[in-house]
Amino acid sequence: MESIWSKTCNRKKKPVLEGHIQADAAVIGGGMAGILTAWQLEQAGVRTVVLEAEQIGGGQTKNTTAKITSQHGLFCRTFIEKKGEEPARKYVQANQAAVEEYKRIIRKECIDCDLLESAAYVYSVDSEKLKRETEAAQRLGINASFEEQIEIPVSCAGAVCFPEQAQFHPLKFIRALAERLTIYEDTLVTEVEDNLVKTACGSVRAGYIIFTSHFPFINFPGMYFARMHQERSYVIALENAGELNGMYIGEGEDTLSFRQYNKYILLGGQAHRTGENKTGGRYEKLRETAKRMYPESTVAACWSAQDCITSDKIPFIGEYSAERPSWLTATGFQKWGMSSAMVSAILLRDRICGYENPYAEVFAPSRFSVEEFPGLVKEGGKAVKGLTKRFFYIPDKTIAGLERGHGAVVDTPQGKAGVYKTEEGEVCQVDVVCPHMGCELSWNPDECSWDCPCHGSRFNYKGELLDGPAQEGVWHE
Ligand SMILES: Cc1cc2nc3c(=O)[nH]c(=O)nc-3n(C[C@H](O)[C@H](O)[C@H](O)COP(=O)(O)OP(=O)(O)OC[C@H]3O[C@@H](n4cnc5c(N)ncnc54)[C@H](O)[C@@H]3O)c2cc1C
Repeated sequence: MESIWSKTCNRKKKPVLEGHIQADAAVIGGGMAGILTAWQLEQAGVRTVVLEAEQIGGGQTKNTTAKITSQHGLFCRTFIEKKGEEPARKYVQANQAAVEEYKRIIRKECIDCDLLESAAYVYSVDSEKLKRETEAAQRLGINASFEEQIEIPVSCAGAVCFPEQAQFHPLKFIRALAERLTIYEDTLVTEVEDNLVKTACGSVRAGYIIFTSHFPFINFPGMYFARMHQERSYVIALENAGELNGMYIGEGEDTLSFRQYNKYILLGGQAHRTGENKTGGRYEKLRETAKRMYPESTVAACWSAQDCITSDKIPFIGEYSAERPSWLTATGFQKWGMSSAMVSAILLRDRICGYENPYAEVFAPSRFSVEEFPGLVKEGGKAVKGLTKRFFYIPDKTIAGLERGHGAVVDTPQGKAGVYKTEEGEVCQVDVVCPHMGCELSWNPDECSWDCPCHGSRFNYKGELLDGPAQEGVWHE
């Protein structure tokens, strides 16, 4: 399942790191956050290298919907209520500055990445909620408006509009920046010891180590596993569905997302916690929705992605842990990783260059607030459940009883195993213990993958690693 971005962007391969090198900063992970951080650092004169396990943009960034906006759902009012008006203003301003910075870089560097300025909308059936959100956004300095009529075929009472946001082709953008950066691909970081980063064939000693690996994969210090989980969503690209001027997202659970790219409308939705998609049918449900809304449309591509959700719904950008002041990180983007990646790049550049940044404390991973508390308890509970399942749940299926084209945790003479039976009847067996922290994996029928409900690591049906925080595949036969 290839995204419209991967289908429409050529790439030039970067070398593998071989031998030992030195740099001012080493960035681990070449997604949107890593490439932008390296770009901002290089612009400020900091010698930076990027170490990417596979290919740049090949993680979640290749499967985003690439709306660049400071409108992160209906968040202004809640943010003010939970954290206060000043932190809320800083959050919005940091993200709005990020939107402007994208436009500035793209124009200055003449990057051909299909940048389009457009308004962003959140729609809802609750007009009072929308009006209150509009007022809150205005108080925070956004030129927001309440619109009763919108152009998408959903039943709603209107939408909150943020004008002058943007959308683009994310891979064309980062590959243009990458031309001017020092990047090593197929270079998995296996170990980090103080200021030394180790890979299979080389190492980097750097003044700063920046983890932009989507989910920080070193558990101690930092303990990000206790403060975040991952959520997956699905996208289909529709042809013959007409044209949209704005970018849209619904409020609440079960929401839908819309944007235009060339002749396609990208329709997203069907979100769930990674590892909790037992029954599947997510693409099917999106197709049904598309048929209802756009009867003439056909599906040209479909794909999915996931993102990290923090306990208090604010990204972690800054020092990895007080114990390692030269390690920095950017993660927990809540499916708003385009603007958040730019916020990260600016904050991390300022931290390294010693520039004062008024927004730093809002995003600091060291923050600890009461809003995080219920989330922390929930994450702890999920991890315990994932571990308990591994030890106490006895599967009722056997390999013989498994239908073709299906996967499940089954009972085998050697104990529990994850088995996928191909349409041809071939049996692919894997260990169902996640190498990250030992939780039991679940089968995701929509992606034919083994997904971890605790922290969101994923493996294909052969056991090969798809997504972190795990850094290796699972045993397979
Ligand atoms: C369906 C969906 C739609 C979305 N749409 C939007 C949107 O419209 N607008 C928006 O703002 N956000 C959106 N997001 C969120 C956004 O896509 C992500 O937040 C963003 O792409 C994350 O970028 P990243 O650089 O943090 O991670 P990634 O792109 O995953 O990059 C991390 C990189 O680190 C590498 N890596 C991992 N471990 C190692 C290691 N040990 N050594 C070396 N490299 C390593 C990986 O290979 C990967 O390339 C969406 C998310 C989803 C799920």
